[in-house]
Amino acid sequence: MTGTTGVNSSAVADEKFLPPDAIVERAYVQGLPTYKELYELSLSDPDSFWSEQANILSWQKKWSSPICKYNLDVDEGPVHISWFDGAETNLAWNAVDRNVEAGLGNRVAFYWEGNDEGVERTVTYSELKSMVCRIANYLKSVGVKRGDDVTMYMALVPELPAAMLACARIGAVHSVVFGGFSAEALADRILDSTPNVVITASGAMRGPKPIPLKAIVDDALQICEGKGHTVQHVLVLEQLPFSDVNGSMKPGRDVTWREAVDSQPDECPVEWMPAEAPLFKLYTSGSTGKPKGVLHTTGGYMVGAMVTTKFVFDIHPASDVYWCTADCGWITGHTYVAYGPLLLGATQVLFEGVPTWPDAGRCWSIVDKYKVTIFYTAPTAIRALHAKGDAFVTRHSRSSLRLLGSVGEPINPEAWRWYYEVVGCGRCPIMDTWWQTETGAHMITPLPGATPLKPGCATLPFFGVEPAVLDEKGNELQGPCEGMLVIKRPWPSMMRTVAGDHKRFEQTYFSAYKGYYFTGDGCRRDADGYYWITGRVDDVLNVSGHRIGTAEVESALVSHPSCVEAAVVAVEHAIKGQSIYAFVTLMTGAEPSDALRKELISTVRKVIGPFAAPDVIHWAPGLPKTRSGKIMRRVLRKIASKEEDQLGDISTLADPSVVQQLVDLRGK
Ligand code: ATP
Ligand code: MG
Repeated sequence: MTGTTGVNSSAVADEKFLPPDAIVERAYVQGLPTYKELYELSLSDPDSFWSEQANILSWQKKWSSPICKYNLDVDEGPVHISWFDGAETNLAWNAVDRNVEAGLGNRVAFYWEGNDEGVERTVTYSELKSMVCRIANYLKSVGVKRGDDVTMYMALVPELPAAMLACARIGAVHSVVFGGFSAEALADRILDSTPNVVITASGAMRGPKPIPLKAIVDDALQICEGKGHTVQHVLVLEQLPFSDVNGSMKPGRDVTWREAVDSQPDECPVEWMPAEAPLFKLYTSGSTGKPKGVLHTTGGYMVGAMVTTKFVFDIHPASDVYWCTADCGWITGHTYVAYGPLLLGATQVLFEGVPTWPDAGRCWSIVDKYKVTIFYTAPTAIRALHAKGDAFVTRHSRSSLRLLGSVGEPINPEAWRWYYEVVGCGRCPIMDTWWQTETGAHMITPLPGATPLKPGCATLPFFGVEPAVLDEKGNELQGPCEGMLVIKRPWPSMMRTVAGDHKRFEQTYFSAYKGYYFTGDGCRRDADGYYWITGRVDDVLNVSGHRIGTAEVESALVSHPSCVEAAVVAVEHAIKGQSIYAFVTLMTGAEPSDALRKELISTVRKVIGPFAAPDVIHWAPGLPKTRSGKIMRRVLRKIASKEEDQLGDISTLADPSVVQQLVDLRGK
């Protein structure tokens, strides 16, 4: 790689993996020139590109021209974005009924695999339609109308995407809160959208751990009452091993699924919604601070979800079995579980449990059981499985797999290679998809039959996405460069506002660089025009005048065979300005030692350069992560600078005990 600023990028070899013939032959987009041609068209004539895609779906009323109206420049007036103005559609109709009407009623929509082995269910498209209609009828029976909010707090069971679709069917706005958040965090999110109805379950198991969902909802609603908001209705799915909820049901407020939903008619007319009608609110992961309530709307989101799922995973619905491990509590579980695959009529696996339960081979046993062809997960899971050793993988066949995906964080080249070689046996391209809750759909990503891959690189922009790289003064950089990643024009699935706080929307995304959407991420563009996400701009390290992305140093550490995961932060340094402080998690079986510490430091010196060498290696049996598995570097910064008494909002931290563990290991 050449032409980067600051960092000697031999950190990442310029190694390319070409799409295998078998993948190219069946791909919707074959070869890089075809991608480039379509990409150019998507920018030069968005009306014709997006109309053609949108016409794959059903609309009650078509849109007027131009297909997108917008202003992204705060100096020109309020920021606004609209797509498919004048059009009307219904997302649930497109995701469910449309497939049933096309004769696919008996096709499996979900193979549901429960937390415990042997617990499973199959849901066809017609069964899904009935389920969605019954939930929609229940919601209507308690007064939910177009535009009303409904909060969900559940495990990943088919009823969760069905409840999301039920809201979409009647024009209600869902807000799914990951069923792992505490009562306080749930209460915050309920207070932000003030729903009258909360949908939950009695409880669920996550790995070996019981999650008493209903009890947590009870606590959250009590907190909400204390703050002036009363939720009128709680719908409770009776789920093993907590099915006995009798003692906790609050008369007049709580009803069980059996009494309230099962008896509903299984037909429910759809509400035709304007393209810009709100579809859902979803809070960001909170890696960098207090989560933002991101609002997505109907038409553009629907088209974005469908088109990216189709091209990026190259789904051929009649033969593929697709599995995305994300929970519906995250954007990935919205776009690439609840909406995208169903819009294509695809068959997917829904897995309630965790990849390491009952052991680290669970994913591959599920892949073999359902003959999964497309598998999409997060770097945190890949690194956790890598740490457990290859045997958990290789004892399963995995011969059905043809495509892999990654999302959520930069994937270190070392983890990429393990995923590619050990999990995919060198035959399955990896789609490293960069995107955000805010973007609604993939933004920078390879396409399976078109894009030569480079380990650890999200590669090229998706259709209609026009990225740019800015320097700190806001100048657009040309050619190979490194700086801030921004997007120059709206794309259909872009967020429209921060729920209830349009000023915060403008402030967060449009005030730093006028006229651009600011992603908050840093990136490097190489000589091939490929984009490498280098980490969050807020986390950038500045050592003796060199600006270094966290991903760069972390990947260098992970390239050492004993290191499975690393997180680096900057701490104040009298001479260098900042110095690099590294938290390192070792492979199962590797032991901390001074010799290993020296080896790790010298690995970074070799791979990047002496200026990037960490001053401190802090052994970390675990790292503070969000509940979606992202490393929270701002918490690590506080630990490194001995300010753990000032952690700020840590309501999205998955395991708060990690903080004390790391404090105890400081200086060891
Ligand atoms: P918050 O905005 O509250 O801090 P968050 O940014 O973690 O939370 P998400 O929207 O879930 O919330 O995450 C989007 C971010 O995840 C991106 O901005 C980027 O930093 C990171 N990310 C996602 N996918 C990739 C990827 N393939 N490569 C690199 N980074 C990625
Ligand atoms: Mg973010």
